[in-house]
Amino acid sequence: MLTNSRSALPSPYFREEHEALRAQLRRFVEDEIKPHGLAWEEQGFVPRDLLRRMGELGFLGIRYPAEYGGSEMDILGSLVLAEELGRSTFGGVAITVLVHTDMASVHMANAGSPAQKAKWMPEIIAGRVITAVAVTEPDAGSDVKGIRTTARRDGDCYVLDGAKMFITNGVYADLYFVAAKSDPGARSAKAVSMFMVQKGTPGLRVSRALDKHGWRSSDTAELAFENCRIPAENLLGEEGRGFYAIMRNFQNERTVIAAMAMSEAQAALDLTLDYVMTRKAFGAPLFDKQAIRERLAMLAAKVEAGRQLVYHAAFLDSQGVDCTREVSMAKAYCGELVNEVMYHCVQFHGGMGFMRESPIERMARDARVQSIGGGATEVMLEEVAKRLAR
Ligand SMILES: Cc1cc2nc3c(=O)[nH]c(=O)nc-3n(C[C@H](O)[C@H](O)[C@H](O)COP(=O)(O)OP(=O)(O)OC[C@H]3O[C@@H](n4cnc5c(N)ncnc54)[C@H](O)[C@@H]3O)c2cc1C
Repeated sequence: MLTNSRSALPSPYFREEHEALRAQLRRFVEDEIKPHGLAWEEQGFVPRDLLRRMGELGFLGIRYPAEYGGSEMDILGSLVLAEELGRSTFGGVAITVLVHTDMASVHMANAGSPAQKAKWMPEIIAGRVITAVAVTEPDAGSDVKGIRTTARRDGDCYVLDGAKMFITNGVYADLYFVAAKSDPGARSAKAVSMFMVQKGTPGLRVSRALDKHGWRSSDTAELAFENCRIPAENLLGEEGRGFYAIMRNFQNERTVIAAMAMSEAQAALDLTLDYVMTRKAFGAPLFDKQAIRERLAMLAAKVEAGRQLVYHAAFLDSQGVDCTREVSMAKAYCGELVNEVMYHCVQFHGGMGFMRESPIERMARDARVQSIGGGATEVMLEEVAKRLAR
């Protein structure tokens, strides 16, 4: 049985189907991602062929109904995907895929009508249609209720106007799930609806591709909606229920991001352990220095703790239990911890840790966003604090 750490025992949370998926993904990452990751970092995006190939192998429909080509696993299947992509050491590739599978297309899977799902889900699962989710705006990120994009009903259409910021898969997506205020007069939570906008719709424009500190192989864009007219049937779910749909899907997104973070931290520790075992200073391998091996041991303990917290939150979710507190804890803890791990791993690589040629340099850059995107640490801690006070 494969695990995501060097721990002695397999995790009790995962069943045979999860382990089979893990083995298949691990092979795929070694053969089809790692050899090309650096080239994709340079070009700034992941080729569509990779997503199509992942679709063919069933990696993009892990949670989705069999009638559309999915495998109907629970959230632990998504964790396996996040962990194995996180192990690749290419955070940009991991987020490209995970936004499609676990952050964007979930809007269609959870709120789409039978006709919408019949049309789009098979394409999404096959990787022929790539998805993005557009909630954040230049003036509203953490505060989702503060979005200003509007969707005005006009006959049998909605007309979208506004701007979206930091949208992953923003340049290359075929289908965007967009949050907009359909009733600006309503109480802010009830004003928001979700809409489906196809690439090529007049009035939708990629205003610019954004240049980033890390996740460089993931495409990130700013989008503009200018008198963008979409058919009324492109409303996803009920009008005025978009805020609640976003909050619900955030639970999945945050669990998956936390799993990815712990897997990246584990990969960094593994790399660093290999390095300090062989790198000599003062006549012996660095690992012989108590200060170094104890720091690594403490980080390994924290990563194990973070991973178990994510597994526990996912398990609660799979049992249908409200786990907002545990998911928020996991996102806050893992987002911070991955950065702490990267800091020390760069340190123990010495000057080599600062060089572009060393994977740890890239991994440290990629990790920085983990405490910001998908719910900043402070916002997550507020969610936890609210539930402590109750
Ligand atoms: C690479 C990348 C990819 C992204 N992909 C997507 C995507 O695909 N779709 C999408 O919709 N969005 C995406 N985002 C947006 C992301 O989710 C937001 O950046 C995030 O929610 C923070 O919002 P903000 O950047 O507007 O920061 P702000 O909301 O302006 O907050 C700035 C900082 O203030 C602090 N802060 C905020 N609120 C509080 C509070 N209540 N109490 C204390 N401190 C607080 C936090 O430290 C926070 O980092 C992406 C962002 C990045 C960087």
